[in-house]
Amino acid sequence: MKPTLNLLPALLLACTSLAHAFEPATEKVTDNVYAIVGELDQRTAENQGLNNTTGFIITDDGVVLIGSGATEGSAKMLEAAVKKVTDKPIKQVLNIGVQDHHWMGNSHFLAQKIPVSALAKTVESQQAQEPMNRMRLSSGIGGKPEDLKVEYPSETFDGDEKTLTIGGVEMSLRYLGDAHFPGDAVLWLPKEKIVFTGDIVFNERMLGVLPEISRIRDWQATFKKVAELQPAHVVPGHGTPSDLASAQKNTGDYLDWLVTEVGKSLEEMEDLGDAVKRLSADETFSFLKLSKDLHGRNVHQTYLQLEAE
Ligand SMILES: [Zn+2]
Repeated sequence: MKPTLNLLPALLLACTSLAHAFEPATEKVTDNVYAIVGELDQRTAENQGLNNTTGFIITDDGVVLIGSGATEGSAKMLEAAVKKVTDKPIKQVLNIGVQDHHWMGNSHFLAQKIPVSALAKTVESQQAQEPMNRMRLSSGIGGKPEDLKVEYPSETFDGDEKTLTIGGVEMSLRYLGDAHFPGDAVLWLPKEKIVFTGDIVFNERMLGVLPEISRIRDWQATFKKVAELQPAHVVPGHGTPSDLASAQKNTGDYLDWLVTEVGKSLEEMEDLGDAVKRLSADETFSFLKLSKDLHGRNVHQTYLQLEAE
């Protein structure tokens, strides 16, 4: 019995660290297309900044991974999620987003000589937003901003649209307008009618209108462009895959509500403090997770933006 007893502390430690390890959920969208759904809550050391949704496409030539996670740790979580579904290697990584968790895990794949591609417009914004992304990420997961290993895509495409056919699957990188971040893009699969929207769509949890980064009117217009694609499936930047109606309810309608309600408030010359107090108490979108933290801030930010027009 003695050796077993001696092993007990080590076993307990192993169990504790297992209990804390975060594992994203993999959700099948269609036969060869999957979403990888990260944490719905904020960034932590356990989730390594993977509090967003990415996904992958299995093609005849290998796997196309959309998004690389926030860090090497979350890139490995994505890699493990792919391995659970297919033995095919990751052949290509695409970046469609500018916020940390959509691309700051690139170095893990580039080190394996896997190409990472994106629209030049997205990469320009990744470069501009990098210092802020480093700050926000490290404040969530711990460590120093300068210690994060950040690499840009190895291949960029000029213009607002680039069609690629990989392993028999046609896909199109498209910039439809700025959204949560300037330079955010989508990946559209025309045959399957699937759109990977990145942070243009938030499901289940409330979106955040970020000071000096998210322009609410641009985001509203860009969401409408996504809707014009008439997708059968939406893989969002946060939350689980859905149809267009759910994306409309969780994101499109909320953006419209903010612009309409804050717009009315400005027309009626309500001051900032009163508008934030009154509209923050509105519970129309309180079914969305994190609304307690974010709704008041979104009203505040929308007021400042519409007032400055
Ligand atoms: Zn995000």
